Amino acid sequence: MVDSIYRTRSLGVAAVGLPDQYADGKAAKVWELYIGCKNDRTSVYKEFICGHLKKRNCKTVLDVACGTGVDSLLLVEEGFNVVSTDASDKMLKYALKERWERRKDERFDKWVIEEANWLNLAEDLEDIEGAKEGFDAVICLGNSFAHLPDFGGEQENHKVALANFASMVKPGGFLMIDHRNYDAIIDLGVVPQGKNVYYQGDFMDDIKCSNLYVNGKPTMVTLDYKLNIAKIMQTHKEFAKMDEVSAMSNSKFRLSYYPHKRERFTELLHEAFGPGATHEVYADFESVEKIKLPAYYIHTIEKPYI
Ligand code: SAH
Repeated sequence: MVDSIYRTRSLGVAAVGLPDQYADGKAAKVWELYIGCKNDRTSVYKEFICGHLKKRNCKTVLDVACGTGVDSLLLVEEGFNVVSTDASDKMLKYALKERWERRKDERFDKWVIEEANWLNLAEDLEDIEGAKEGFDAVICLGNSFAHLPDFGGEQENHKVALANFASMVKPGGFLMIDHRNYDAIIDLGVVPQGKNVYYQGDFMDDIKCSNLYVNGKPTMVTLDYKLNIAKIMQTHKEFAKMDEVSAMSNSKFRLSYYPHKRERFTELLHEAFGPGATHEVYADFESVEKIKLPAYYIHTIEKPYI
């Protein structure tokens, strides 16, 4: 009998240093399918993010987890000056392609895309215009922050990354950051899904969670995403051409996350932004009183003038 091995990520992903879970290009490809048409975000999402930016009169935005460029694209189209960064070149590849294809549009021509790790943000953005003065808004969305593991057990890297985000926000500006509802994932053992609040993509069949405890403390959550192959085949020619085994393997992916619970995460944000910072939290873009079992929590925190 062969032992089964517990893998925290799909095969082929770099195992040293901070893992880029998208390094083999597979998750990046499946992610494109997961989020569906990039130009087709849910209207609730668009109104939420643009509403927050416009109400504070924001002009410049730093998207520190741009991935394939999905949030940035929307903001570029809305006329914001966007700097998009990500640690994974496999993900950035899709954003760079989009910018190239639409370069004749002035809004896209001035879109800045750069590789940068949250743990070295100032250094990685040294040559970027506007980084020294800071941005009106920093965004980190799509359950991205939870990708940062906590190997030390004291959330040191989380604190460093959030302090780096705070350093990129101008006084009076704000950070918008989200995470899945890990309170439910840990306490109830289920991944609240509903209709995806961010993306129009309707290929998602199922998300399963496996929760790892270290010394009794929830430390890592592994999510297994499964997409609906039959549906994908109808619209994606490359899938229709694949044999069953390849189609199957291309429709699944596994990623691991740190389970940020709402209260503790709020504390971390206050630590990074100082005691005078104004914090708000939303449940799937609505008030937390309204949505009892949201899929996501979205936090905003404003940097005080002093
Ligand atoms: N915001 C996008 C991307 C989500 S995927 C969307 O909603 O679709 C999460 C992204 O976080 C990945 O592209 C991954 O490369 C990036 N990421 C994870 N850890 C990072 C780190 N330490 N520094 C910078 N980016 C990181």
